Amino acid sequence: MAKLPSLIRPLVRNLHPYVPGEQPKIKGLIKLNTNENPYPPSPRVLDAVKAAVDARLRLYPQPTSQRLREKLARLHGCGPENIFVGNGSDELLALAVRAFVEPHQQTNFKFRNSQPSRSVVQYFVPSYSLYPVLADTHGAAKNAVALNPDFSLPSLGELKRGRVWDFNAALTLVTTPNAPSGHGYATAELEPLCAAQQGVVLLDEAYVDFAQENALALALQRPNVLVARTFSKAYSLCFQRVGYGVGQADLIAALDKIRDSYNVNGLGQIAAEATLDDLKYYRANFQRIIGTRDWLSRELTGLGFCVLPSQTNFILTRPPKPAAADWLQKLRDRKVLVRWFNAPEVKDYLRITIGTPEEAYALVQAAKDILRGVKKQG
Ligand code: PMP
Repeated sequence: MAKLPSLIRPLVRNLHPYVPGEQPKIKGLIKLNTNENPYPPSPRVLDAVKAAVDARLRLYPQPTSQRLREKLARLHGCGPENIFVGNGSDELLALAVRAFVEPHQQTNFKFRNSQPSRSVVQYFVPSYSLYPVLADTHGAAKNAVALNPDFSLPSLGELKRGRVWDFNAALTLVTTPNAPSGHGYATAELEPLCAAQQGVVLLDEAYVDFAQENALALALQRPNVLVARTFSKAYSLCFQRVGYGVGQADLIAALDKIRDSYNVNGLGQIAAEATLDDLKYYRANFQRIIGTRDWLSRELTGLGFCVLPSQTNFILTRPPKPAAADWLQKLRDRKVLVRWFNAPEVKDYLRITIGTPEEAYALVQAAKDILRGVKKQG
């Protein structure tokens, strides 16, 4: 039989999808691979969700997440028209690509001026590995620009001299603090970048609650800046999928126009609202996680790991021999799951989520055990 033409668009056939971290159900596993919060949501949040599980589940949720947007607006000193709520901040990122970037062509952005900037999604490497997938899915061009070798942000002068940065890119995505490096960027370095860009700059602050500063003021001041936040990491709510964006009303309205009518599920809205009523609980957790991060960084450094300074709830660390990919397996054999990225910039590193003090201790014990084995073999 003659082969039928594929029913799938070539763009989709050729797409390399985003690969999320594993969610294995192995008994006793210490899961430090997807930057989840080790502490549960506040009891008030759990009560609010439980109280809402009744016959109301048959009804559609609030289509505009109105109450949640009003609460977020009060928290951030802006109006609800400055807030977009999404099905996780991933939805916001995807909608930003669709709202601000012209689908144009599928190849990598190689030569400056070879294609109109209206179709360019720009980001630093390494940063959140979803960005290129979103650009590819949309048929947009990608401009992936290397960070400095120490993962710091190139200055405006360096970007200009490097000649690959596109100051006219339709959308520039900046993970701040960065993932997977954990490196924090100061608002003073982000501001000139935002001011120099002609297109939209989306500051992805998924991990900002563990950082020294945030750049929310830029979103409230500048016409081309959006800040993305999430309830997933700092607020222990990955399961519920709630994220949000802050920015000028016209940018927010553009995102709002193209979202699904009921994009945020009802229990997620309720959980996020209750979260905002108990911020004290979460702030105490941030401090515990930062304390464990500092302890773990010191311990691993003592074992010969190179640990990069982190302003997030994870660390990026270069282990001593064997290779990072072998560490991944050896730790897994000892029931500790961390993350390794098969990407040239970070292949020598492991990304380790900060868990409870007990989990961090178990990781250090497993590392010591692995190093003893290496010594014996050597
Ligand atoms: N931004 C960054 C940098 C992330 O690491 C993640 C989580 N993988 C997200 C955004 C998305 O988080 P969520 O969709 O759970 O809000």
